[in-house]
Amino acid sequence: MIGALALAALLLARPAPSAITIATARGERVIELRDDAGGAPMLSASGLVSALGGTVRVSGSWAEIAIGRQPFRFLLGAPFFVYNNRVRPLAAGAALTRDTLYLPFQFIAEVLPRLFADRYRYDADAARFTEAGAPPPSATAAAPEPAEPTAAASARYAGPRLPNGIRPGHLVTIDPGHGGVDPGNPGLFFPRGIREKDVTLQIGLLVRDELKRRGVAVRMTRTTDTLIALGDRGSYCSDNCDLFLSIHINSLPKRPGYTAARGSETYFLAEAKTEDARRVARMENEAVRFETETVAAHPSGGLDFILKDLQLNEHLRESALLAARVQDNLDQVHTGNNRGVKQAGFMVLTTARRPAVLAELGYSTNPEDGRFLTQPVGQRKLAAALADAVVSYLHEYERRTDAGADSPAGR
Ligand SMILES: [Zn+2]
Repeated sequence: MIGALALAALLLARPAPSAITIATARGERVIELRDDAGGAPMLSASGLVSALGGTVRVSGSWAEIAIGRQPFRFLLGAPFFVYNNRVRPLAAGAALTRDTLYLPFQFIAEVLPRLFADRYRYDADAARFTEAGAPPPSATAAAPEPAEPTAAASARYAGPRLPNGIRPGHLVTIDPGHGGVDPGNPGLFFPRGIREKDVTLQIGLLVRDELKRRGVAVRMTRTTDTLIALGDRGSYCSDNCDLFLSIHINSLPKRPGYTAARGSETYFLAEAKTEDARRVARMENEAVRFETETVAAHPSGGLDFILKDLQLNEHLRESALLAARVQDNLDQVHTGNNRGVKQAGFMVLTTARRPAVLAELGYSTNPEDGRFLTQPVGQRKLAAALADAVVSYLHEYERRTDAGADSPAGR
């Protein structure tokens, strides 16, 4: 989303005007701007289309704006729009407030003038948007009355499918392992000063960006170098969250030949089946020793409690399917071995009330993996593979449940 961020920075460099003038062959019109909750300047879509000619329609999670004869689709709340079947970034999302659809100011100040340079121009100094030359064909007739957007309660997943096949409205939690005083493993073959916690965060943020590009909303357990208690991480994925993905880097203790092991593996929550799975779970669970007051609140006996949960079978099946999808996709880009789908009792997974998996993306104790995990090209490949895995899991889930009107947790 570098483009959107750069654009946002540009727009922020000059304060947005409080109102803009839209000048066309049919006259002038002043439209006031207002700030959305995040402080981004927005303008009313119906004001825009009544000035330029067009229509506004809100259906489910999507808003469709036709300007001239050009259709634009906005996923409400998501920082992108779709034009010509291409998803393009925005600094802020379209929003429905009290039956009025608001579009980011960026759409009129940047997007329209860029897409239709021969027709539209925006003069930031004068806060003036000008339609140049002949009016667009459909505007020669009387501009159609903009349809009143309806704020009908939009069920999640109810909108038309995204270009990648899934329905809009999904939310997933990404959990970059470790953080703060818990460095994770020391990163034997990572560049100097880089530990597991740094790499999980770098890749986690990339996964977030990749998922947003795919129309999936993301909640992060952390976006900075801070420690989140293991027992608290899962609670980031509750009611409206579809799945939980924890990101880690493996390592082995010093022993003969220990730098040879490499590759990725993906875990779902269950009792550990093998000694190596137990070792990895023990290692990742060790982070509790960095926690202070939270330890007592989340004793490791939490696993027994969760195992009795009636929902667990559903969770286990979905978590296993998700783990398989994640591992398949990691294997497609990873230069190391495919170490498969495994099960173990990770504390971090016990409190998630949704399908939850933990991916060990490779070994910092292997030189090739160490490079792959820390170089930008490797990180981008892994992030894209994880995002693709999430999307294809959600797609599969929607197909299995037919209407796709439910969440993976069988809500
Ligand atoms: Zn870890």
